[in-house]
Amino acid sequence: MKRLISVVVPVYNEQAGIKFFLEKELGPSIEKLDEKVEVVVIDDGSTDKSVETVKSCDLGPNVKIRVVALMKNFGKENALTAGLREAEGDAVIMIDADGQHPASEIPRMVEKWHDGAMIVTAVREKNTTKHKFGSRVYYTLMKITGDKDIVEGETDFRLLDREVVDAFNQFTEHNRLTRGLINWLGYPQEYIRVKTKGRTSGEATYGFKKLMALTGDSVISTSRTPLVIFGYIGAFIMMITFFPGLFQLIQEYILGDPMHLQWGGGVATGFFSAFLVGLVLISQSITALYISHIHAEAKNRPLYVVNKSKSVGLKDAKK
Ligand code: UDP
Ligand code: MG
Repeated sequence: MKRLISVVVPVYNEQAGIKFFLEKELGPSIEKLDEKVEVVVIDDGSTDKSVETVKSCDLGPNVKIRVVALMKNFGKENALTAGLREAEGDAVIMIDADGQHPASEIPRMVEKWHDGAMIVTAVREKNTTKHKFGSRVYYTLMKITGDKDIVEGETDFRLLDREVVDAFNQFTEHNRLTRGLINWLGYPQEYIRVKTKGRTSGEATYGFKKLMALTGDSVISTSRTPLVIFGYIGAFIMMITFFPGLFQLIQEYILGDPMHLQWGGGVATGFFSAFLVGLVLISQSITALYISHIHAEAKNRPLYVVNKSKSVGLKDAKK
C-alpha cells in the first residue's frame, strides 16, 4: 500500500498568494512523489478570503486538500500544532504559505526520509530574512539561555516522521515554539540547505517586534509589554549610568581627578544606586515573566478551537 505524506500549511490572510503557492509551487513539487499526498491547510482565523481561495484550489485527483479552520487567529505556532495533530501522513511536512520556503525542495526531503531520516530540517543558506538584527538577537539569546543545539538559520520548513509527530503531539504546554520543541525531542536531524525567498505577496506577520516577542516566549514565556517594559527601563538606566559611573571611578578615584571635576562621593553614590535600580528592575521583570508563564500554563486553555463549519475533511468528522 502506498504511504501517505501530509503537507501542513499554516495560513493567515494569504489570499493574494495562496493559490499561486498551492497550485504553482507546491503542486508541481508533490506531483513528483510516489506517495499519496494530503495537504492540510490550517486557516489561522484569516479575515480575508484565504479559506475560500484555498477551497477553490485544485491539485489534481491524487492530492486531497483538507482545511482546518480555526475560530480566530491563534498564532502560527498553535496553527502548526493543530496541523500536526490533524495530519495523518506517515511523514508530515510543514511549509509556510507565503512562498518563502522553496516547495521544490520537498522531493529532496522525502528522499532523505526514504533513506531513514526521522527529521529533515531546511536551513536558510544565508540569513535572508528582513529582520536580520532581530533574528540575530533571537539566535544569540536562544544559544545563551538554553537551546544550545539550535542551528542558525533553521526554519520551520521540515519533514517529520510519524514517530516524531506522535511524540510532538504529546506536548501540552501553551507557550510553544514548534522548532524548539521538535529539537527538544532529541531525534537526530538531517539538514538541507535551501535558499529562502522574499514573500510572494502580503506582509510578514512576524515583524521585528513580534520576533522579539517570540524570543521572549522561547526564552522564558510570554512577553507581555507591561511586564517587560520595566526590564527595558532598567536596562536603559543601567546603560546610562554605567559609563558615566565607570568614567568617574577611573577619572576621580584611580587617576586622581586630572580633569578637576570634583564630582565626589555623592555623585558616585548616585550613579551606583541608579545602576542598582536598573539591575533590580531587570530582575523583577524576568521574575514577572516566569510568573506570567506559570499563569498561562495554569489556566490550561485549549491551544486552539476549530471552526467546524468552515473546515473540510476533518479527522474527527470522518469517524
Ligand atoms: N501564519 C499563521 N498565523 C499567524 C501568522 C502567520 O498561520 O498568526 C502563517 C502565515 O500565513 C505563513 C506562515 O505562518 O504561512 C509564516 O508567517 P510569516 O510569513 O508572517 O512569518 P515569517 O516568514 O516572518 O516567519
Ligand atoms: Mg514568511
